[in-house]
Amino acid sequence: MMSAVKPLTNIRTFLLWLALFCPIAAWIGWQDHADRYERFFQDTSIAQRMLSQKTVQHEAVLATLAALSHPPIPERLLPSLQPSMPQLLGLGYLRDGVWAGSTLFPTGLDAAVEHARQEGRPVTLPVDESRYWLVAPSGWSLLLDARQLIPAADFPPSLAMLTLDVGAGPLALLARQSAARSPGWNIDVRKPLGAVSQPFPMHSWRTLTLADWPWAEWLAWAAASCLLAASSAAWQRSRADARRQQEEVRLAAMTRLSTLGEMAAGIAHELNQPLTAILAQVRAAERLLDDEEERPTVRQALLASAGQARRAADIISRMRELVKPSSPSPRAAVDPDALAASLLFLREEELARRGIRLTWRNSNPGARPLGDRVALEQILHNLVQNAADALADAPGTRSIVLSGDVEGTEYEFSVSDNGPGIPPEALSRLFEPFYTTRPQGMGLGLALCETLAGAMDGRITARNLDPLGACFTLRLPLAGADA
Ligand code: ADP
Repeated sequence: MMSAVKPLTNIRTFLLWLALFCPIAAWIGWQDHADRYERFFQDTSIAQRMLSQKTVQHEAVLATLAALSHPPIPERLLPSLQPSMPQLLGLGYLRDGVWAGSTLFPTGLDAAVEHARQEGRPVTLPVDESRYWLVAPSGWSLLLDARQLIPAADFPPSLAMLTLDVGAGPLALLARQSAARSPGWNIDVRKPLGAVSQPFPMHSWRTLTLADWPWAEWLAWAAASCLLAASSAAWQRSRADARRQQEEVRLAAMTRLSTLGEMAAGIAHELNQPLTAILAQVRAAERLLDDEEERPTVRQALLASAGQARRAADIISRMRELVKPSSPSPRAAVDPDALAASLLFLREEELARRGIRLTWRNSNPGARPLGDRVALEQILHNLVQNAADALADAPGTRSIVLSGDVEGTEYEFSVSDNGPGIPPEALSRLFEPFYTTRPQGMGLGLALCETLAGAMDGRITARNLDPLGACFTLRLPLAGADA
């Protein structure tokens, strides 16, 4: 049983763990990704601000140069500016169609100056992916190298790939991940630089690889959720155990209750007979009361009633003792003859009126069974009553024979009748409480007899007689052959 239950419990625990682990793990992953993206977005913004500040600086330099009344000589100016502006490769100015600069005249500069004048601000003239001229309306122009704007090491650490397009295609400013796209999840941000004259598109991206996932957090949660699932399973198991125990206690209580119910019904059953007898005798006495001559009969009837009432009281106290679990039944050597005499006294006449002859045969007059007299009386009463019930519709001479004999170390009482016998299907169930084949029967008589016999270390068996009739045998320990 256990081995069949265990895998099921394990599967349930595993499913519970999955149900615990998955949603929180997904939340951890999502949260981690959101954090990572947030940091990446902020660092990209920092890079964009750093680049924007540099390019705005170019505008300031051009504005200063334009404001000078005596333009300095570009070749001389360049070395003094370069230490603070390593991105500055050259400079010069175009005035009245004449170019004065540290480099040769750049192609297209005249058109660019014209364009800048129209815009009223500096414009760019790209040279290649990295270099561009920034041309002011004044004619002053700076040759700049975007690659030198910011040293790669100065970019925030969470950035991986960064390009800037100065006009001739993207220039890689940062390549911390291998360019060959490894499989993974990309996060990217596109932003133009903030300088009005140099709004170069900037692109920053990063590929999240397996190494970027929050393995440590997942592992910690897996362990914690394992612990949770295991303790929950243990808790459930102990709860199920507790419920099972409660159920067992309830069952035991129910069994006791039903035994109690049986007892109550049994008491009613047992008392029915003496009470009916008392009623009949008192009624007869009442009828004869006025007749002086019948006085002795009235006395006898009243005495018999008193006897029956005592029997009823005995039955009740006997029952009470039986309910007490460990009360040993008071046992003594019983005289079978005396027992039979009292039974005959009580039942003989009444049975005779119903055409049934009750006889007592003692095959071993000296032998004494060990038992409780009241319980014994009750058992024999019941067996005689059952026999009488079986004989109710039997044809011919009806007879019940009560006999006593010694069989080995046991004393045997048997009650035989010449009625129809026990139906074969009933034989195995006779002693079950509530088993009956009679319409008015309660099925408690034999169950009670067996309980009473058991309390005296005795036992009752039933068999059919040949050619007809039933025989119930009660075996009791022998008190001693000549007690
Ligand atoms: P009940 O009082 O309802 O008859 P018992 O426990 O006394 O219940 O008996 C159970 C059944 O045993 C009876 O219904 C009957 O079928 C059978 N039985 C008992 N005594 C005899 C008998 N002497 N002859 C035939 N059947 C009997």
